[in-house]
Amino acid sequence: NNLLNTIQVAKPDKILGLTEKFNQDKNQKKVNLTVGIYKDAWGKVSTLPSVALAQRQMGTLSTLNWNLSYLPIVGCEKYHQNVKNFLFNECMKDLKHFNNGVSFFQTLSGTGAIAITARFLSKFISNKIWLPNYSWANHINIFEKNGFHNSINYYSYYNDTTGKLAVDKWLNDLRINVSKDKSNVPHCIVLHACCHNPTGIDPTKEEWTKIIDTVHELNMIPIIDMAYQGLESGDVVEDAYVLRSCLQDNRKWHNGLYLCQSFAKNMGLYGERVGSLSIITPYESLPSVRLAIDSQIKKIIRSMYSSPPGYGSRIVNTILSDEKLKKQWFKDVNSMVNRLHSIRNKLFEQLHWDDLVEFGQQHGMFYFTRFTPKQVNQLKQNYSIYLTEDGRLSLSGINDSNLDYVCEALMDVSK
Ligand code: PMP
Repeated sequence: NNLLNTIQVAKPDKILGLTEKFNQDKNQKKVNLTVGIYKDAWGKVSTLPSVALAQRQMGTLSTLNWNLSYLPIVGCEKYHQNVKNFLFNECMKDLKHFNNGVSFFQTLSGTGAIAITARFLSKFISNKIWLPNYSWANHINIFEKNGFHNSINYYSYYNDTTGKLAVDKWLNDLRINVSKDKSNVPHCIVLHACCHNPTGIDPTKEEWTKIIDTVHELNMIPIIDMAYQGLESGDVVEDAYVLRSCLQDNRKWHNGLYLCQSFAKNMGLYGERVGSLSIITPYESLPSVRLAIDSQIKKIIRSMYSSPPGYGSRIVNTILSDEKLKKQWFKDVNSMVNRLHSIRNKLFEQLHWDDLVEFGQQHGMFYFTRFTPKQVNQLKQNYSIYLTEDGRLSLSGINDSNLDYVCEALMDVSK
């Protein structure tokens, strides 16, 4: 008996599956506003000036005859030094001397870091996790496939009626449900560090303080997903405030704090898959704990993808270890943010929607339209404009040549 013919067709990916559809669409006016990739004013995914300069400095394969050997399982030493220095020295601002231990791993971008975290936590620490409702569609996928099958809880994040954050309800959800659980198994929680995907709205700093206090009080395990560092304020250092806030006053996270970080968006290194996982524990003085964590994570990585890719990490190393290039990178992030702001403003001016009150508080790559799946479908059918099913619109796909068309379509389906 042939078991192959019992396999069901899987649903297409909620985000990338749409680009496959978009590519087949014959409409000349089609616009792809699905994926979170930054496109410039000409609709191109261009290389950031800092990255281009780093590439020039590194030389080409033919001129340098690079070492194309494998990187170690946990990535290369130089990347560890540069990225750790960036995250736990420069991004800490005045919090430099926290005496935590950091287990650090170069990972297959942010997705790799989250998947490793999920496997590690579900195997050794907890099978309970909380995601925001809404969240990045792939979060559910990653956690389900890596040990949290059927055990994902959702905390309130956003009020669909008002378009505002639901922080009080969020904290209530946690307080009621987590403290009710007498099993002694700690609960994990995913926090979007900035530029929440898909809503584009984040708590204020005061709200974050309340949230982090509650998470700590409930003995939860924070997983900070920092995929858009810099794209909120235009300043990469400033945007690490949730991380700083978690570590403030030398706060200890006894089951670790898991920082999943990516250079995909803020360096435009999407396809090169460069990111990191840092596990911050209070056990600096207990090397045996670090040794155990490091060895188990290594085992997980080895079974998943063996070792991370090399090229992108060389670019990151070149930029982070050269003050001039680093300054240029900071500038590049700032110009991306300026363009995103200007598109947001242009939409705001043209759409005149009453419920855009919260518009000014949104930031990052996305505008959350609050369209129903039916409206999203109308945009696709009638205009060949593609949004994700949850109504998320990737702003940088809009430029002067399609702005009027997109606005006309958005107004039409919103009637
Ligand atoms: N987290 C969130 C919220 C994201 O939106 C993304 C990318 N879309 C990622 C993590 C991971 O991205 P990558 O694997 O490309 O670094």
